[in-house]
Amino acid sequence: MTSFPEDDSDAARKGAELLSKFKNISLGGPTPGREHYLDTSSGITAVEPRSIEDSEEACLMCNATPVQRCARCKSASYCSKTCQKNDYRAHKLLCQQFANQSPRPSAQHVRGIFFPVNAEKPEVVWIPCALVRRPDEEPCQELDPMPFLHDIPGWDRIQVNHVRRRQLGVGLASYHPEPAGYCVALFYRDNFLSDGSVPNKSFQASLATSGARNSSYRGPLLAVRQLPPKDLEQDDLWRDVMLSDFRHIIDHFHPSVVGAV
Ligand SMILES: [Zn+2]
Ligand SMILES: [Zn+2]
Repeated sequence: MTSFPEDDSDAARKGAELLSKFKNISLGGPTPGREHYLDTSSGITAVEPRSIEDSEEACLMCNATPVQRCARCKSASYCSKTCQKNDYRAHKLLCQQFANQSPRPSAQHVRGIFFPVNAEKPEVVWIPCALVRRPDEEPCQELDPMPFLHDIPGWDRIQVNHVRRRQLGVGLASYHPEPAGYCVALFYRDNFLSDGSVPNKSFQASLATSGARNSSYRGPLLAVRQLPPKDLEQDDLWRDVMLSDFRHIIDHFHPSVVGAV
């Protein structure tokens, strides 16, 4: 890949540069999508939730296999250069930051995507976590979004990508007898509609990469992966966010999804 179709701007040049790092990709015939990633709620054939590791092994744009990871950040998987290119406007906001993130400050920290209010793009951050042991309770892994939100957090959970017809997990937003997979937890200020917080520029810039409309979120936002609790055990609830999750967040606010809800 030596050029981008649109123009020869700086962004296009960098795009070509990045794509050229994405080597040895299979460009054979189309590979069937994986049925187990389809969304049950849309009435399509259904779904056996898979492990997190397996969820990284399908193209984040079309669910096809086999995939290659972005050579720079190793945090997004694509079946073809076409799919990689289609994700590029969003991916380029964070790829370099993922590749160059500072070392994990401690084993208790997890990687998040922070959307500052007044920045041009989001940031890759380390979020403090702690294993809390209270009397007569199972140990619980607690995440601390306060350094980023500075106020009481509320959160939304994204466990289905309706645009890609992909199931990330089950049993995270409501009860399920066999919860599995994961969701993208999106933390916001719980009082974001009433505290006069300003619109979030970096979040709007992220959504704009795919034509998504403005969301009603105001104030800072923080995204991370959340696992379902295993019975009473809650000592492994929070995991590093991946760049594939950035796509799931953006798709969650796509007009076709927002309009359908
Ligand atoms: Zn693909
Ligand atoms: Zn990348």
